[in-house]
Amino acid sequence: MSEAPINTEVVIAGGGMAGLTLGLALSQAGVDVVVADTEIPATQLAPTYDGRACAIAYASFRMWEALGLGPTLQPHAQRIEKILVTDGRARTGPSLLSLAFDRRELDARPDGEALGYMLENRWTRVALNEAAARADLRLIAPAAVVAHKADAGGVTVTLKDGRAVRASLLVSAEGRRSTIRSQEGIRTAGWKYNQTAVVCTVAHEKPHEGVAHEYFLPSGPFAMLPLTDNRMNIVWTETPAISDALMKLSEADFLSELRARFGDHLGAISMAGPRFAYPLSLQLAEKFVAPRTALIGDAAHGVHPIAGQGLNVGLRDVAALAECIVDATRVGLEPGDAQVLSRYQTWRRFDSTSMALVMDGFNKVFSNDFGPLRQWRGRGMALIDAIPPARKFFMREAAGGSGDMPKLLKGEALGV
Ligand SMILES: Cc1cc2nc3c(=O)[nH]c(=O)nc-3n(C[C@H](O)[C@H](O)[C@H](O)COP(=O)(O)OP(=O)(O)OC[C@H]3O[C@@H](n4cnc5c(N)ncnc54)[C@H](O)[C@@H]3O)c2cc1C
Repeated sequence: MSEAPINTEVVIAGGGMAGLTLGLALSQAGVDVVVADTEIPATQLAPTYDGRACAIAYASFRMWEALGLGPTLQPHAQRIEKILVTDGRARTGPSLLSLAFDRRELDARPDGEALGYMLENRWTRVALNEAAARADLRLIAPAAVVAHKADAGGVTVTLKDGRAVRASLLVSAEGRRSTIRSQEGIRTAGWKYNQTAVVCTVAHEKPHEGVAHEYFLPSGPFAMLPLTDNRMNIVWTETPAISDALMKLSEADFLSELRARFGDHLGAISMAGPRFAYPLSLQLAEKFVAPRTALIGDAAHGVHPIAGQGLNVGLRDVAALAECIVDATRVGLEPGDAQVLSRYQTWRRFDSTSMALVMDGFNKVFSNDFGPLRQWRGRGMALIDAIPPARKFFMREAAGGSGDMPKLLKGEALGV
């Protein structure tokens, strides 16, 4: 006799940063949730699993605080006080053309609103998993979702070990290789960039003062992003062949290559963890919903990390979908009702598609050594640098504080 299905209101495939945030938001608002992930938390929390650190917009951080993650995240969150953007040229290194975003232009108080926070993904995952363990949320792992079937009354999800979960709504938070998206026949538009990001963390002697540096070099951006305890997360974008070679270098040789780009303004540097490589691509789902199914995060849109927006866009999906579900259940609709899905898609699709295309455009314009284009972008940067309202506009956009913001991103609870 086969086992009875696990019954719930919402089943989320994928307990990464987007999936677990949605699970927490819904369970705190009184919605019954099951989150299934292929990997057990111990694997995802190991230092060798994910070497990235994300620039977290002020609004995204406020949402995590509203969900109770503040005390766990704060000791690991590095305030971004200033961002220095410098245009570079092939063989001659960074040029003098630069653009500075200083948060004091928005808020002069010493402890005023930061431009955002740098948070290592590992600590974000720790905070989310701890909060999930405290919440009324069922996290099943290892549990890969291998099939699903929607009908008029709900959706039945099959896990790899044969168990079944019956819910009103299925959410794919499975990342770029979403099985559910393929099974629904939802096509994606996009392309591979001829770029791979080599990511690592370095420790340095002198304080970074919360300053993030981004050099636009012809092969792609080279970013130095401040972390707590005198460390910087490096995102070094090169062609796949060069990245491959960088990954194979001995630690000493890698460090000496890195030093040539990092400079000596922060004193001596040393490696503070392993190297990771991430091939970069653009991937946009043609739609974010199907009957009783919604896509969030990278399953819906994978964007270029040039301005650190991928997860922030995913968290906007989370906040919007959670609000659509909670508002609907309050008036007696089910989470998987077609009206919930339609409201979610209308709310999110334009914003995430435009963000993905803007990031794609930035990458094309800046990862380029074509003479006339270089002159134009230099002029554009000088213009923005000379006009304080233009700089303030970009800073407010990066903080994620504009447009039709869902409640959670404003730091408001969803309520039951
Ligand atoms: C180099 C680099 C730097 C970046 N920097 C930034 C930044 O500064 N700021 C920012 O906002 N974003 C940044 N991003 C983007 C950010 O990392 C991603 O947007 C984010 O990690 C996506 O999270 P997710 O939860 O949607 O997907 P994922 O992290 O891919 O999580 C998917 C989860 O689903 C699980 N899963 C997959 N398939 C199944 C299945 N069938 N059943 C069950 N579980 C499944 C996986 O095990 C995983 O846990 C960066 C990306 C890169 C590559």
